[in-house]
Amino acid sequence: MQTGLLSCDRHTPLDVAAARMAERRCSSMLVMENDEPVGIWTEHDCIYLDFADPGALRQPIGDLMIESIATIAADASLGEAAMRFAAENRHHFLVVDEAQAPLGILSRSDAVLNQGLESYLRLREVRHAMCKTPLVLPGTLTLGELASRMRFTHTDAAVITQPGQALGIITERDLVRFVAAHPGQVSVGELATRPLLSVAPGDTLIHARDQLIANRVRHLAVIDESEQVVGLLGFREMLDGNEQFYIEDLRQALAQRDQALSQSRFNLELAERVIDASLEGIIITDAQTHIEFVNPAFTHMTGYRPEEVIGRTPALLSSGRHEADFYARMWHSLKSNGYWRGEIWNRRKNGQLYLELLTVTAIRDEAGETTNYAALFSDITHIRENEEQVRRLAYYDALTRLPNRRLLEDRLSLSMRHAHRNSRRLAVIFIDLDHFKQVNDSLGHAIGDELLLQVSQRLSARLREDDTLARLGGDEFIALLPDLDEPAEATHIAGRLIAAISEPFKIDGHEFRVGGSLGISFYPDDAATIDDLMRNADAAMYRAKQEGRNTYRLFNSKTHVQENHHLAMESALRDTAETGAGLDVHYQPIFDTRSGALRGAEALLRWQHPGFGHVAPADFIPVAERSGLILPLGRRLIRKVAAQQQRWLAAGQAVVPVAVNLSAKQFWQNDLPARLAAIFSEHELPPGLIDVELTESTLLDESQQATHILQSLRELGCGVAIDDFGTGYSSLRYLQDLPVTTLKIDRSFVARMQTAHGSRAIVAAVTGLAHELGLKVVAEGVEQASQLAALKQYPVHCVQGFHLGMPVAADVFAREWLGSA
Ligand code: C2E
Ligand code: CA
Ligand code: CA
Repeated sequence: MQTGLLSCDRHTPLDVAAARMAERRCSSMLVMENDEPVGIWTEHDCIYLDFADPGALRQPIGDLMIESIATIAADASLGEAAMRFAAENRHHFLVVDEAQAPLGILSRSDAVLNQGLESYLRLREVRHAMCKTPLVLPGTLTLGELASRMRFTHTDAAVITQPGQALGIITERDLVRFVAAHPGQVSVGELATRPLLSVAPGDTLIHARDQLIANRVRHLAVIDESEQVVGLLGFREMLDGNEQFYIEDLRQALAQRDQALSQSRFNLELAERVIDASLEGIIITDAQTHIEFVNPAFTHMTGYRPEEVIGRTPALLSSGRHEADFYARMWHSLKSNGYWRGEIWNRRKNGQLYLELLTVTAIRDEAGETTNYAALFSDITHIRENEEQVRRLAYYDALTRLPNRRLLEDRLSLSMRHAHRNSRRLAVIFIDLDHFKQVNDSLGHAIGDELLLQVSQRLSARLREDDTLARLGGDEFIALLPDLDEPAEATHIAGRLIAAISEPFKIDGHEFRVGGSLGISFYPDDAATIDDLMRNADAAMYRAKQEGRNTYRLFNSKTHVQENHHLAMESALRDTAETGAGLDVHYQPIFDTRSGALRGAEALLRWQHPGFGHVAPADFIPVAERSGLILPLGRRLIRKVAAQQQRWLAAGQAVVPVAVNLSAKQFWQNDLPARLAAIFSEHELPPGLIDVELTESTLLDESQQATHILQSLRELGCGVAIDDFGTGYSSLRYLQDLPVTTLKIDRSFVARMQTAHGSRAIVAAVTGLAHELGLKVVAEGVEQASQLAALKQYPVHCVQGFHLGMPVAADVFAREWLGSA
């Protein structure tokens, strides 16, 4: 609208008012009375004037004005106004505010000039909108005649032809000028404006409009190819050239525009909503990378509010973690591909580093110039952390989230090193629930799981801060208590743990009680390695179970008992070793497998003690070996055997070789062959009456040295047997290199021969190989006739066992067996 609202009093002479309109190039004048608008006079009203009567042009404007003032609300749309222009055939509307106060005047041309009708004007050709019957008048007419023709034809302009002259035009606006300054009785040919600008019928209305605006004129002649004026086009025609068509057209155009608008508004809203709700951070910068926009996710991730970053560059997020060439590569990719994607470390406002997956896109205009950059990023630090977590899962129990065995062992090894350095003590408590299996079986695994969870929580709550509770699996837990002063601290905690487990559980409506059996071992007191420490705690726990459950036991006490027992036995053995009291030798016969003839005997120690009673070799031999007493005891045995052989020889008994068992300490003692040689000569024994039995493990190390010793023994006439063959390393390869004479297949194979197929295979293989190596094979532990029969299928030279002959005292042996030798 025209905001510089022209107005005048209703008594103002028309020519005065027209002069102001012409001066201001306004098409209308608001007529006032007592400061109230009472009417309007417009340039269109010129056509009703009698230009022949100059007095008529000086009448008060109030007598000539149109009294009905059509108003339109200031907030009415231009589309609405355009339709009203056409429907009411008006040229002007008074624009009023809500209080009906005049704000300005809206003319048709304003509507055309300002309407968003471009799309309509762009689509329509001049020929469809132009006035097809333009008023073309000869230049000889008077103004009065012109005005009446314009009035009669409802046109707002007339094309003036004048022979020998270019086309001219006279419009309503020109008439206003003539009202203001009456030209007198001159022809319109002289008054016409020249040249009359023209457009072609095929031109678009938008082109025509641009011509009008550019040349500040209001009419164009439409001239066809034959230079004929075929139409006239003004703002009026642009709006209502073809009224019906136009209105429908306009409606459509407007509807389309509104739809497009609402669509784009919707799209925009949608985009805004998407951007707002996006979990991805979004930064939009201008071409110089100054931030123009960030979304809430950006703020959430970086800690920066929009007002803190807008206008700055994303460099403020820089972590300092990337080299300059990292950014250089990024920019290179952006400039050449318009795109970059990668992982980048940035820094939040609070200084915290985070890893983001960033996509930057260059936004380009139609000319290909980058106008903006859009950056989309997501914080993937947590994904990394998740990966970390997955990795760590290997260290945690899935159900209780307690450390698992692996992590426990890590911590234990750390704590042990720490304890070692600081001369401290640590405890491992093995915890096993009592009756967990019943709960699981009767109430189901879900409740079982829940129970384990609650147990783990109760246990954790009773431990100290630096303690570790781990779950080994099932209902087994381990508590690691580092840094103890006294073992009593651990037993105190163990008591608390038992109390915690013993309280009733209420799960899923079921109320029940379980208990816990605990075993405690200490580092360094009970063990030096992780494995031993855990095993000892386990053993102690097992004792707690055996001794009533829901209690704890110290591995330690057991060691003490054992140790006390061993110590007592050791001292008793020492006495025996010194005096020989209670020591005896039994002889077990060894027979030829096929003939059953006596081929030898094995000497076995027997020990009778006043305090311990009869003690089996399996119990006292290990004590003797550990204490070193095996050496004097072994010497006593060999002397006894040597003496016995000497006696039998002296008594004219037929004798057989007697094998003595040598433990590793005996074998490796200094000068074993020399000592034996001394004993043999002392008892004047011929060679071949005393053999030795050794286990594989004895010979395993230093085979060079072993070979040497064995060789010496062989030279003394001793047969050498590998005892318990098959239970140790069973390396037949090294046997090849050792000067041994005999293999004694362990009794466990003989025992299993009838049941386990594998044992037969081993017997077959061993005997076959021994045969190849030229070794004698003795099968031990033959307890049944069937075993003997089975052994006969293999190259087994000799057999020994309860089925054939028990170990017996020398006199019994002589009486029972030597006679048959
Ligand atoms: P070993 O050297 O394997 O001795 C054979 C063991 O098998 C003897 O047990 C013998 O009584 C037992 N035995 C013999 N026939 C049968 C049978 O048919 N069935 C069963 N189940 N067992 C049978 P013993 O006398 O209790 O000796 C146990 C171990 O003590 C011996 O095993 C040997 O390793 C060690 N030992 C015994 N005397 C001495 C010794 O003077 N010096 C050394 N260093 N160790 C000895
Ligand atoms: Ca033996
Ligand atoms: Ca044996």
